[in-house]
Amino acid sequence: MIKRIALVAHDARKQELVSWVKFNAGSLKECHLFCTGTTGRLVEEALSEVLGDDNMPPIDKLLSGPLGGDAQIGALIAEDKVDMLVFFCDNLIMQGHQNDVMSLVRLASLYNIPFATNRSTADFIISSPLYNDESYERIIPACIESYKNRKL
Ligand code: PGA
Repeated sequence: MIKRIALVAHDARKQELVSWVKFNAGSLKECHLFCTGTTGRLVEEALSEVLGDDNMPPIDKLLSGPLGGDAQIGALIAEDKVDMLVFFCDNLIMQGHQNDVMSLVRLASLYNIPFATNRSTADFIISSPLYNDESYERIIPACIESYKNRKL
């Protein structure tokens, strides 16, 4: 079951994320959201428009991406505090914080969390029967346990 969702969008794709958030406001209001700074402000405005201020989910607004926000989301994934990532990255230009972007992508993949980099994938995840399935347990890849216990 998905309860904790991280949302990040680069500037060129922020409106796309806002539109996705508005469309899925009913599902998102049951979750705890984690966002990079500017994305979080826009997500908050969008949800408050659709849901009203009294029905808002908790939204943790972290640092802006270029100032370490992507790295903070990556750390939350590594600490098992995030169940799903929606990360709409700009595919046409490199970011000043491209290393953090790549690190976030690597950690989302490593920890096997549902991870959307585009809107149709985000739609498929949020509408999946597994999204609300309390019995579904995400498998933590065996390489993580074996790495923790490696002998040097
Ligand atoms: P922002 O950061 O939400 O603060 O714009 C996103 C990013 O650049 O990764």
